[in-house]
Amino acid sequence: MHCQCVHEFGKPLQAEDRADMEPQGSEVILKVTAAGVCHTDLHLREGGFDLGHGKRMAYKDRGVSLPVVPGHETTGTLVAAGPDAGDIDPDAQYVVYPWCGCGTCPSCQRGEEQLCATPAFLGIQSDGGYATHIRVPHPRYLFDIRDLDPAFAAPLACSGLTTYAALKKVEHLLAEHRLVLIGGGGLGLMCLQLLKARGAKAPVVVDIDPSKRAAAREAGAAAAVDPKDDDAIAQIHKACGGAPMGAIDFVGAPQTAALGFDVLGRGGTLVMVGLFGGAAPWALPLIPAKSITVCGSYTGSLSDFAQLMELVHSGALTAIPSKTWPLSQAEEVMNMLEEGKILGRALLDPKR
Ligand SMILES: [Zn+2]
Ligand SMILES: [Zn+2]
Repeated sequence: MHCQCVHEFGKPLQAEDRADMEPQGSEVILKVTAAGVCHTDLHLREGGFDLGHGKRMAYKDRGVSLPVVPGHETTGTLVAAGPDAGDIDPDAQYVVYPWCGCGTCPSCQRGEEQLCATPAFLGIQSDGGYATHIRVPHPRYLFDIRDLDPAFAAPLACSGLTTYAALKKVEHLLAEHRLVLIGGGGLGLMCLQLLKARGAKAPVVVDIDPSKRAAAREAGAAAAVDPKDDDAIAQIHKACGGAPMGAIDFVGAPQTAALGFDVLGRGGTLVMVGLFGGAAPWALPLIPAKSITVCGSYTGSLSDFAQLMELVHSGALTAIPSKTWPLSQAEEVMNMLEEGKILGRALLDPKR
């Protein structure tokens, strides 16, 4: 097999040839057909992210040992299965749920493996999809993509699932209120579609990049606002018909979190999703004074993913813009993503 690995944090990816993998127990080996490139991969290559107040999250303290193959948005076809894997359709193409937990901690027992204390996430603690082949611990993590394009299906495992689960945190608002989505990249565009599929009001999208604002308008946003405008909050209030009750921050920088907080009406909810980095910018007394709920959402559970895939197969979603590069260009594609030059989702194809 061939893969692109992080060998040293803060250094470019390295191409590597390895011996073919043999599945043990319930493991399944897939031949990769598409691998999405996500911002989390940039953090992994970097070795961590900024927690603000001079602190840093380090992947080496979160069970990541090098070398590791990034990539948690993967589709593939069956190559081999271990003796305990059971029957697996050999002709199907699968998208992989990558947020695999230990299986025994309280989070895993509740079915929330994405919150596992000692996770084995594919593409983070375990090798992921920037490769010709990937090892998946159990076939229950595989979902048949049927007639979907792999370039559409692969990002569902992260951007799709993350937005699907984040919307659950503001479920109570969807019938009546217009949401504010901060960040018009892959997650923002996916969220626009999920809201449309649920018959919710078109949201207001906020992004500093004019091309992302244009893409959001194209995808049905009620308005797309530049947060650098002096009257950005007034523009959002106008588009929402008053102060909004829900905002989702897909960026997670101090500036975006501040905007998400400041724009909300009393009793509103801010969902933090993005992992850009930094410290919370809110004045503590305003959290009780405005009775604001700030909550986090990290990817989603295996059952969330099953629900999302059902929704996708019902035809409720269409593909967001994406572009595919050869696996050999993984490093360049990551750099483009880092520089904000990717519209929608970027994918790698090991066959090209
Ligand atoms: Zn991701
Ligand atoms: Zn666990």
